[in-house]
This record gives sequence, structure tokens and C-alpha cells, in this order.
Amino acid sequence: MITSTNPYTGEEFASVKEYSPAQIDKALETAHLGFESWKQIGIKERGQLLKNAARELKNNKKQYAETITREMGKPLSQSIAEIEKCAWVCEYYAENGEQHLENEVIETDAYKSYVSFEPLGIILAVMPWNYPFWQVFRFAAPALMAGNMAVLKHASNVMQSANNIQKVFENAGFPKGCFQNIPVSSDKVEDIIKDKRIKAVTLTGSTPAGRAIASVAGEHIKKSVLELGGSNALVIFEDANLEEAAKTCVQARYQNTGQSCIAGKRLLLQENIADKFLKIFTEKVKELKSGDPMDEETFVGVMAREDLAKDLEDQVNTSVAEGATIHLGGKRKGTWFEPTILTKVTPKMPVFAEETFGPVIGVTTFNSKRDAIDLVNSSQFGLGVSLFTEDLKSVEELIPKFEDGAVFINELVKSDPRLPFGGTKISGYGRELSVHGIREFVNKKTVFIK
Ligand code: NAP
Repeated sequence: MITSTNPYTGEEFASVKEYSPAQIDKALETAHLGFESWKQIGIKERGQLLKNAARELKNNKKQYAETITREMGKPLSQSIAEIEKCAWVCEYYAENGEQHLENEVIETDAYKSYVSFEPLGIILAVMPWNYPFWQVFRFAAPALMAGNMAVLKHASNVMQSANNIQKVFENAGFPKGCFQNIPVSSDKVEDIIKDKRIKAVTLTGSTPAGRAIASVAGEHIKKSVLELGGSNALVIFEDANLEEAAKTCVQARYQNTGQSCIAGKRLLLQENIADKFLKIFTEKVKELKSGDPMDEETFVGVMAREDLAKDLEDQVNTSVAEGATIHLGGKRKGTWFEPTILTKVTPKMPVFAEETFGPVIGVTTFNSKRDAIDLVNSSQFGLGVSLFTEDLKSVEELIPKFEDGAVFINELVKSDPRLPFGGTKISGYGRELSVHGIREFVNKKTVFIK
């Protein structure tokens, strides 16, 4: 049995029976048999079904959101926003997918030559609990629009949300087998990837899971996309609007109770404004409302599992033992972690060198732009960086110097269906969203007619 436990109350409120090998086989066969007809359905009809899915999400957002909050402790208002964003990505691909997948004509000596974009078949998605709906929809909307079939292995603590996602597609009228949730634990993933009916795999999750999945996919020469961990920097230059920057940085670090791959985890302050900025930032963090995640006023909920909160506590304690100072917070009680600010953080400390997946920020100071760039790039992760400055002209010259998958100026790094999303270094490879995302799981077929 795979059990869902409310991290705020500790109540075990639901469980699902793990699929047997025969049930997994049946699910894959259903998808395999359905693929040919799904592929033949016109793209306009697939878009219409995605619009239905968007409607289903919007009409039932509170109900779906409540299950997210019960399973992983996200404040309810943020769960509702997550469902709305899922509706947006469905609508985005319904409206733009056809154009993204139009044949790309290339002039050669042929009578006609072009690239066509054709679906691959069944794609396995292995997904995390932190945005239980969004991570799945940002994969599924483009994959289904392109004519692929999707099977989901969701994180073990959010199996009720996984079941609800399958319901969304069923209620939207998708043909049988287009989207199936397969409730299994992670030790079953290897055999599923190896199955010849699976054509590719996408993982959003930790770097260790990425290594495991990519090596199996590589052994079987199957395409993989990896969206892994991050340790984004928030860089405050001396000429930034400190009030606005502080407001944005609070959102960047503490929304979703800090459990986001693209959260700003390292706060880098130019030395001469460091004290002033820290004062403004600290006041704003103190104002954050912690409490019952089901209360719509709550901004900081509980962490998704106690073991994760303990891991974060270890990272904080080790960093403090190595010389960091607790400027604010630092306490943990069960799954609740106080919004925390650590100062005097150096690159060797865990809160800088590792990913901190919770409401903790580490502050480091720098003197010059060159120092800031080196500090940002010294991370083994490469998802994104936010730079805060009023000098928009010279900051653009800095952009090529950063090794990350995204550079945001005066804004937190965030995903948007219209823009590609993905990392470099151990944050993974491949892109989701936009035209780049829908073209990850297609056969880019070269056609040459003489
Ligand atoms: P996780 O422990 O890696 O789990 C992610 C998924 O992978 C789960 O479904 C998990 O199943 C499965 N899994 C874990 N180890 C596996 C293995 N060895 N082989 C096959 N499957 C395996 O990550 P998480 O704790 O759920 O999520 C947090 C992590 O995700 C953070 O590192 C975060 O930065 C990253 N993340 C990245 C992005 C991005 O877009 N780059 C977005 C969100 C989150 P079980 O639950 O059954 O173990």
C-alpha cells in the first residue's frame, strides 16, 4: 500500500494498492493499442480535448487544490493558483501546439524538403510532489497535443493527486489510455523504462533520481529529459531598487514553503548595501503568515515530510558549525520549519553548495560584478539566476557570463508556458514549455522529395 499522510495533522487519510506487474503490463498495453488511433486524431481535436481539460480544472479547482494541500502541506491559496496555472498550460498548447508542429520547410536542391514533427509513442513521466499538478501538466499538455500517450509514476506521497490528474483527462473526454496513472514505488521504474513499449522518459526530481533514470534510459537508447534540483542565486547590486527587490526575493524564497527547484536559495548582496537590504528583507520575512495550510491566509505552510525537514535542519546546523550565523528563525518542530535567514555564508557550506529544499536562505556578500558572477557560477547547479539592478543597459552585457538555463532581471525565476524552462550542469538537460518543450518528444523527421 502507498499511503498519503497529511503533513500538518499527521493523519494517514488515504492509500492505494501498488500495481502488480500484470496491472502495469495491462496499462502499457492499453496505451500501446491506443496510440495509433490517437495519432490519427486531428490536432484540432486534440486541442479541443485540452481545452476541456482546462475547463475541468477551473470548474473544480478548489476540490483538486484541497487534495494537494492535504497531501503535501502547500498553503491552499497556492494550491488553487497551481490548478489555475495547469489550466493555462492546457489552453496555451491548445491554441499554439498546431503552429509549433507545422512542417518546417527548408529550401534545398529537392523539389520539396521539410521537417515534420511526429509523436514517438508512450512517454513515461516520473514526477515529484512539490507541485503535484503543475509538474505533470507541463509535461502532459504538450506531449498529448503532439500525439503521444502518457503514463505517470508520481511521487509516493501524492498518489491521490495523481489519481485526480487521471480523472481530469478522463472527464475532459480523452480516449482511454491517453493518460494513465500507474501507482508504483520508485523501484519499479527501471523495468518500466526498459519495456519496449516505452519510447522516452521525463523526470522532474532530485539529481540522484536523475542519475538513476538517465543511466537506464541511456542503456536502452531512449530519449530522456531531466528537470532536476537547483540552487538559484538572487543577486542584489548596489543600484537596485531595494524595496522592490526585497519583496520579490521573499516570494522567490518562501513561496511553496521554500520547496521549489527554482526558488532563490542563495542571496548575494553587494557589500555596500548589504546591511540596508538585509534589514528590509528581514522585516518582510517576519511578516509572513505561517500556520494551517488549509487557511487561505497562510503563506508558509509545513514541509511535505518530516524527513525532509530534518535534512534541512542538518544543513542549517552544519553551516552554523562551519561559521554561519542564524540571523532569523532556525527552529523546526515536526514538519514545520521557521522561515530562516543565515548570514556569513561561504561557498563551502551546505546551504550554499547543496540544494536547500525548504524556507531557508543563505546570505553571502560580494564586492564587484566579477565576484558576483563567480559566486553564481560556482554552484554545481544551473537552473536560473535573478539579478536586481536599475541599470538595464549594462546588465544585459552580463547575461552571457552566467552558466544557468535562465537569467531573470528584477524578477524571480518562474515558469511560463510561453517560455522554455530547463537547466544546465547537474540541474539537468532538455527543455519544457513553449515550442521547445513540445518538440522534445517528437520524431523530427527529415523529408526530401526530389
Ligand atoms: P525525488 O525524490 O527525486 O523524487 C522524484 C520522483 O522520482 C518521485 O516520483 C520518486 O518516486 C522518483 N524516484 C526517486 N528516486 C528514484 C530512482 N532511483 N529511480 C526511479 N525513480 C525515482 O524528488 P522529490 O523529493 O519528489 O522532489 C524534489 C526534487 O525535485 C528537488 O531536488 C527539486 O529541486 C526537484 N525539482 C526540480 C524541478 C525542475 O523543474 N528542475 C521542479 C520541481 C522539483 P518516490 O516518491 O516513490 O520515491
